[in-house]
Amino acid sequence: MEEYMKKNLLALLGIAFLTFTSIYSMTQNTLASSKQQSIVKKISAGKDKNFNYYEFVKKDGSVDFVSEVNAKYPKTHLLPFIKDNNTGLNIKQKINDDGTIHVKYDGNSNLKNNFKNAVAAWNKLDVIKFKMVDDSSATVDVHGNSNAKEDANNPDYEKGNLGDTNNYVDYDSSTALADGTKMNYISKSDIVLYSGIAKASDNNKDHVIIHELGHALGFDDLYGQKNRGLVMFSTSPIGSVLLNHLGSSEKISLQHYYQ
Ligand SMILES: [Zn+2]
Repeated sequence: MEEYMKKNLLALLGIAFLTFTSIYSMTQNTLASSKQQSIVKKISAGKDKNFNYYEFVKKDGSVDFVSEVNAKYPKTHLLPFIKDNNTGLNIKQKINDDGTIHVKYDGNSNLKNNFKNAVAAWNKLDVIKFKMVDDSSATVDVHGNSNAKEDANNPDYEKGNLGDTNNYVDYDSSTALADGTKMNYISKSDIVLYSGIAKASDNNKDHVIIHELGHALGFDDLYGQKNRGLVMFSTSPIGSVLLNHLGSSEKISLQHYYQ
């Protein structure tokens, strides 16, 4: 219910204060997943210069297509950032006066270590720095649902979803890259971790939180075979071992947008 109310409230504020204050909009992204099933067979399905492909045959006979980045990857490329629905401009976090982006964890204590791992993964790239805080200075808030009923109260929730990020955009504080490309700042990011994440492995939990923190930074979902092994790929099959390291594509993308 809380998520639903908050969205209605923001929509109303947007209308009421249209002419004299910031308007907020939401850009929503969803990380879906397939159901966990035991894998009985892993079959190699070829490779290319970036990925090794496998078919995971599950107990019920269904097959998951899984890719793993091979040793020679990554071939560095600029990854897409989210474009705001209203302005069409890319969005990013505003860096705090202390040079960091403040993140707060309000979720289930069982996931605190996974949250820390995810923060460390982004910080390791040495471009932006997340700082974990416990106060209202946080512009990125990570919430957690503890049961299916709470999940169902979130209008964005679809069965199997593990995480969701809503970015609220402050249209009054736009900024530009050195080449003149205009961007908007995110005023607040709300990440929700759905209750189903509790059943995932630590590897998967880390993956979902890294992915959602990526959305809070501005990264968009990735689709297409060539992006299957990257953390921002839109879906991740539970039960497979996911590659959680962030590489040179994420690094140059952050350097580009957070120059
Ligand atoms: Zn996503």
